[in-house]
Amino acid sequence: MATESTDYRSLIRDIPDFPQAGIMFRDITPLLGDAEAYRASIQALAEPFRGAGIDQVAAIEARGYMLGCPLAVELGAGFVPIRKLGKLPFETFQAEYSLEYGEAVIEIHRDALLAHHRVLLIDDVLATGGTMAAAINLIEQSGATIAGVAVLVELGALGGREALVGQDLFSLITL
Ligand code: AMP
Repeated sequence: MATESTDYRSLIRDIPDFPQAGIMFRDITPLLGDAEAYRASIQALAEPFRGAGIDQVAAIEARGYMLGCPLAVELGAGFVPIRKLGKLPFETFQAEYSLEYGEAVIEIHRDALLAHHRVLLIDDVLATGGTMAAAINLIEQSGATIAGVAVLVELGALGGREALVGQDLFSLITL
């Protein structure tokens, strides 16, 4: 069982001005490196979605995989990678989203999700919500149902939650 008392916040390291000036980077590697806290965080992320009939966990490259893969195993679901443009070998759906400077594209395999699948989408950090909104767009193109959206860290001041209107968003830590 995940423990209520796990101090996840102390295991998120704040790195100022990374990868560029003005960004406070939330580094999750101390949490990943703590065996008990990592396991507890996966169980806590799984908890709201147990019994929700999750067929597939979809996660966003690359830090999303560090949570999405163990979460899929924990929930008895499959795992579906969402990747940056040009990395997936088979036919894909694509979605474009805005970064601070310019645009980016993420992809999902066209046959990864089926219309009857219930999908849990996970990433490490929710900031403006642009990345998550693009991933939701990919799942919608697949015709599957988004049963939930989860993040380890929600940066509350950046408005990501408001960008995901209508989604059932669960965040383990809000900063
Ligand atoms: P956004 O699209 O603005 O919600 O940004 C979310 C994506 O960018 C996630 O995949 C995060 O891994 C990454 N990200 C954005 N801001 C931060 C931050 N301050 N610290 C760590 N990762 C971040």
